[in-house]
Order: sequence, then C-alpha cells, then structure tokens
Amino acid sequence: MCGIIGYIGKSSPIDVLIEGLKNLEYRGYDSAGIAVKNKEEVQKVKSVGKIANLEEKINNTKLIDSNLGIAHTRWATHGSPTEINAHPHTVGNVTIVHNGIIENAEELRKKLEKENIKFNSETDTEVIAVLINKYYKDNELEAIKKALKELKGSYALGILFSGSDKLYTTRKDSPLIVGIGKNENFIASDIAAIINYTNKYILLEEGEIGEITKDKVVIYKDNKIIKKDILETDISADAKDKCGYDHYMLKEIMEEPIVLEKTFKPYLKDLSLLPNLTQYEEIHIVACGSAMYAGLIGSSLLEEFANIRVYVEVASEYRYKNIVYNKKTLVILISQSGETADTIAAMRMAKDAGIDTLAIVNVKTSTIARESDKQVFIEAGPEIAVATTKAYILQAGILSLLAYKTAKDKNLIKEDIIKEVKKLPRLLKEVLDRREEYLEIAKSIYKKDNIFFIGRKIDYSICMEGSLKLKEVSYIHSEAYQAGELKHGTISLINDGYPVFAIITDDKVKDKTISNVEEVISRGADVIIISNEKIANYKKQVIVPKINSFMQPLLVVPTLQLIAYEVAKLRNCDIDKPKNLAKSVTVE
Ligand code: GLU
Repeated sequence: MCGIIGYIGKSSPIDVLIEGLKNLEYRGYDSAGIAVKNKEEVQKVKSVGKIANLEEKINNTKLIDSNLGIAHTRWATHGSPTEINAHPHTVGNVTIVHNGIIENAEELRKKLEKENIKFNSETDTEVIAVLINKYYKDNELEAIKKALKELKGSYALGILFSGSDKLYTTRKDSPLIVGIGKNENFIASDIAAIINYTNKYILLEEGEIGEITKDKVVIYKDNKIIKKDILETDISADAKDKCGYDHYMLKEIMEEPIVLEKTFKPYLKDLSLLPNLTQYEEIHIVACGSAMYAGLIGSSLLEEFANIRVYVEVASEYRYKNIVYNKKTLVILISQSGETADTIAAMRMAKDAGIDTLAIVNVKTSTIARESDKQVFIEAGPEIAVATTKAYILQAGILSLLAYKTAKDKNLIKEDIIKEVKKLPRLLKEVLDRREEYLEIAKSIYKKDNIFFIGRKIDYSICMEGSLKLKEVSYIHSEAYQAGELKHGTISLINDGYPVFAIITDDKVKDKTISNVEEVISRGADVIIISNEKIANYKKQVIVPKINSFMQPLLVVPTLQLIAYEVAKLRNCDIDKPKNLAKSVTVE
C-alpha cells in the first residue's frame, strides 16, 4: 500500500519524485506530498487526491534549491485523507514518510502526550517522527534505532534530519529498496518507480538501516556496517507504458497470452520442474482477494483429479485461527507482490509449526519468495492496474498445471494434456480478440445495480473472480452464488431484467446448472451464458473454445475480465485506480 520515493544526488529531486509518485500511484492515491531539503530548510508541498493535484500545486510553488527529497502517496490507515494527515510529517528536526501501520500508535501517543508533546495530525506516522525527534541529539542512527525499539507494527521509512545532508531509511514488514545510481541514489517502494534512472538496487532486510549520500550507501545492522549484494532488475522501462491502450487493465488483459506462454514454457518442456506434491495428505491454499479465488480453481482441480483434500482460506482469517496441522500438510501461499501482509503472517505461522510452504508469486525478491520453502514464479511482469488480471490468470494457471502433474504423479489420470496446453496462448488470444461481443453484453448491463454470477464446482470458482472483478472496477454490486444454492433464499431477489451470468463449462454438472438457469429465467432474469459449447437456444451466450478441464477456466475468466472492463468504461469509472483500493496490500 502507499508509495515511497526518495532521491539524493546531483540535481533537483522534483522530477524524480513526481515521476516516481506517478509510477507508484497504483499503490495508494488518497493524498500525496513531497519534502525537499537543503542546508537551511525543509520545504513541503502536500495535496489531497491524485498525484496530478500535487503536481499542479508544486508547479505553482516557488521551491528551494535542493538535491535531496522524499515523497509519498498515501492509502490512509489512521486519519482521513486530508492535507494535514498527508505525508511527509515533520516534528522538530525530523521529517518522514511512512508506509505501514504502527499498531501501538495510540498507546505511544497517550504516553507522549503526558510528556506535553502536541500532535498535529491523526496519523500513526507522526508518532514515529515524534519518537525519532525525541531521541535525536546529534546522532541520527542512534535516534532511529531508539525509536524503532518502541514501535510495534509495520513500516518502511524515508527520514530526513535538518542537521544532516543524508537520507536515512529502514523497514519492517513493508517493502522498500535502495536504488543505486551514478552520483545519485534513491529509495523506493518498488524498483519500477525508478527504472528510468537505474536498474540496480539493494534489498533492505528487516533490522537494517540505510544511510545514503549521493555517492555512497552504507547499510547498518546491529551497530555494524554490513556488505550487501547489488541486484539488477530485468524489468524494462517500457513495462510501465500503456502501449497505446486506454488503460493498464486492458493492456494487462491483452498481455495474458504472452505471459502465460512465458510462465508455462519451462514446465511444458519438463513438468518435473514443478514441485512434487504426492507426499501431502492435505493442502491449505492461503491468499487474499483474487489470489484466493485463483486458489479456489486450484483446489477444485487438486481435489477432483489428484485426490487431495484442499482447504482454501482468506489469509486475514487463517492467521488468527487455531489450525490443527496434520504433519503431511502443505501450505500454498499466493501473492502477486509477495508482500501481502496477511499472507506473510500466514506463511510465518505455518513455518513456525514446522509445515512446508510453497509460494506462488510474481516478485522474485519479495518477502514471501524469500521466506517460503519452495517457490513457483509467475512471469507476469509489472502489473499496474489495481484490479489484477494477468497475475490471476498465471496464478490459476500454475495451480492447474500443479494439479495435472500431481494427478499424473499419482497415476490417477492417463490423459496427456501438454500438447493441448501449448495451444492455450493462441486460443486465449482468440478469446481476447472478441471485444465487440463483450462490449455488447456490457451495454446491456451497465445501468443495473445488482448482478448475479452462478455456477457449480469449478464454474462457481470462476464466478467468484468474475463477480469480484466487476465490483472492483465498475462499483456495481454483484454476487457469486453456487447455482444450486440460489433457491435456498437468494432467488427472492430476482425480478424482471435482473442480470445473471451463468458459467457452464463443467460437463459433470452442466445439466444441473441449466436447470437453475431455467429457474431464474422463469422469474424474469436476463441470463448471459458463458460456456464452452452452445447451450440450447438461449439468446445471450459467449462460447469460448473447449479445452481440457485443467485449462478451461483460463479461457473463461478473461471474458469476464473484459466484460468488467467495458462496464467500468461505460460507467466512466477510474478503471486503473478504483476508489478506496490500493495494490499490494502491505497492511493488515
Ligand atoms: N499509516 C500511515 C497513515 O495512515 C501510512 C499509510 C500508508 O501506508 O500510506 O498515514
């Protein structure tokens, strides 16, 4: 959540900071601010809303000469998105930007108020600034270390001191990297934010503090200077371009065939590169949001074809449960960023219990990638739109391959699907090329207030993602329902013209779902069928190519992603940055 960027170098920090904030805006966008510093003073500019508002304000402000600055785009956790609550926050000699949540902020605030300290904002962040300032005499590092000892929760920090021309940084449970340039250095929540300046970076680990000047980065741990590897990213600068598409969401959907081919390539050559799951009696798939729904696809296939009991759980629930582990359990964590706070906590809980963990992640240097026992990486590249599309497809895709491999390893199926899977990117492209069809459907539903998605078994898992995507980007309320469950109460909502998407691909339950379709039609519903074959004479149908059961969802979900996109566009929604949301949820 939220984006941090910092610059120290040979020139003015403004362009780097603004460009960085724009690149990070997907992480949080309720307010933003910058602080620039020279020997004499620290100057701040803050504004509510999008980065464009901040940029305008900066353009109308006379700024001091400077070559050091920090900036922040906020996703509020403590206090409403006002200018006062926007970062950076200054207390005495200390100015900071913060990503994360300080869990004992209230307690600390009360304690500090008793020392007659007055607070300006409602944020938990200001408590950090107060503490660092309180301990700051003449040694910056000591002040930071003492303050950190009192904090509970998560933080990535960029810190400036009035009496110092260095930039300081540290982190715990929130992402942050130190970018290494020539005569200039950076801090950022994500390397993509500074990719136009450098592709080299240091991964800051927990408990480390970075002291940065324009030509030196010193990392301290436990009072000692430590040596850190300089890493290089393979993200290219144009990965951040929209490549002619109106929105990142559309661009990213259209990239699905390419990234799917790239992700699957090594495994289609040699399936044994995927982990062997045959020793496990039970699997827990733990994730949040769409990643959890990708997990549902995996669980359907693993249970049906590989005979393993699979529990799919939301990470924010799982982490607080009393899980009685069977020792032959595998916990699969799914997270695009690999920094999802709740999923990290679930992973650590499983590890503490001595349970094997397997991560399916996009970012190879992320916390989940580094701390899990085994990893399978998806090759989505940067995903900028807040609503995930291509990463979801790859997460579901990897789980589908894993289910197939496990069923094969256990001799439970004879079928060889590899040849057919090689055709998947081409088939997917065909599905994506039918945008006009999806636009027509979107036109018929975009003025509605409520929509149902119904399906059974794996088709129900598809409904969950289709419904979430529509809600996220178009703000239409929708609900995914098990087709057979509708008549146990919810069917009372159906009336004339009520849109109902029916997903019908699973041969075993096809007829059952069709009966449910009839039930809602009799009550006036406007049914849109998405299937892999023509179903009777229903008026509105999208027919996707038929493929084996393992890969079928990967040809259905993209149609729902595109319908959600078109609906959001017709409703003039801010498609790439839906209100109240943020990508990469690094807070609980
Ligand atoms: N907890 C801080 C706040 O509410 C930081 C939130 C963020 O990560 O953007 O200001």
